[in-house]
Amino acid sequence: MSTLAPSRPTLDAIADKVYSNERLTQEDALALFAHPNLPEIAALADYQRQKKVPGTTVTYIIGRILNYTNVCWVRCKFCAFYRTPGHDEGYTHSIESIIDKVRDTVEKGGVEILFQGGLNPQLKIDWYEDTFAAIKKEFPQVILHALSPAEIIYIAHISRLTLEEALKRLKAAGMHSIPGAGGEILVDRVRKIIAPYKDTTDEWLACMRTASSLGLKSTASMMFGHVETIEDRVEHLSRIRDLQDECSPFRAFITWNFQPEDTNLPIARKASGYDYLRTVAVSRLFLDNFDNIQVSILTQGPKVAQAALKYGANDFGSVMIEENVVSAAGNKFILSADEFERLIKGAGFVPARRNTRYELL
Ligand code: SF4
Repeated sequence: MSTLAPSRPTLDAIADKVYSNERLTQEDALALFAHPNLPEIAALADYQRQKKVPGTTVTYIIGRILNYTNVCWVRCKFCAFYRTPGHDEGYTHSIESIIDKVRDTVEKGGVEILFQGGLNPQLKIDWYEDTFAAIKKEFPQVILHALSPAEIIYIAHISRLTLEEALKRLKAAGMHSIPGAGGEILVDRVRKIIAPYKDTTDEWLACMRTASSLGLKSTASMMFGHVETIEDRVEHLSRIRDLQDECSPFRAFITWNFQPEDTNLPIARKASGYDYLRTVAVSRLFLDNFDNIQVSILTQGPKVAQAALKYGANDFGSVMIEENVVSAAGNKFILSADEFERLIKGAGFVPARRNTRYELL
């Protein structure tokens, strides 16, 4: 936690800005992170949520995280999912098995496939084009929310294409939008420690910028609670907000804390529920150009996720028919649509199903 300079803005001064639609500065965000009275921040974040998304509706989506391969050479220290090329436990699903998983998703009411894996040196762009085309041929209604910037940049690299060429071809093959995965903390000092071989901050942002210019929307994320400082979190939020001002690539923001189990990134203590709720609330207040703030039920569990709806969040994220990445680090908060609805109602809100475009179904 940063130390408070005597001149740091007061909560009253920040609240005045929120009530008069004035943008918060990085200093304001740092003051919110240091403010001792969390319920006061929650009330302000809830006010901002009502301004951006009025009413009591809390949306959610039914989808599947389809981890097409776990083979990855990048070896991020926070990741418990990958297996290096040649490892006995490495896998790449065949197109047939991918189609079976998409069929199962559709039969269970799913509308979105979150298609993600590792940076697998065996898979060039034609593999993705064939796979996406096969999915879209059989299930044209399914939305392919696919590939992190790190995957896209690597696919372009090994296929000897520019980033724009690769994105154009992936879009033509059926890719609808890009999940915000891999953002972690958009500060290169932090990225060099936790993921030294991954894309830089500018590369991650450039991918989202280029995708946006081609009509591909995305989401933004933040994984906190490892080696970053509070100042780094605020810098991350700033970079995201600046890009949203520039070209509006993001439909939503989601944050979660690092899950250290079975990873190579030792930390003294996992971030608390309090830290999570505060981070959600500060994100809602600082990201004034975002409508949708998602909770991370997968990492926080149902109780904290319910509480987050009073800290500025308006979306419950995805009922996941399958998930492997966070589960590899020991978390298993995978709940049904009925359970999602029960939790949302229990927190005093009205559940509504949506698609990837945030259109109500
Ligand atoms: S986070 Fe992604 S890029 Fe990093 S090791 Fe895991 S699968 Fe590979």
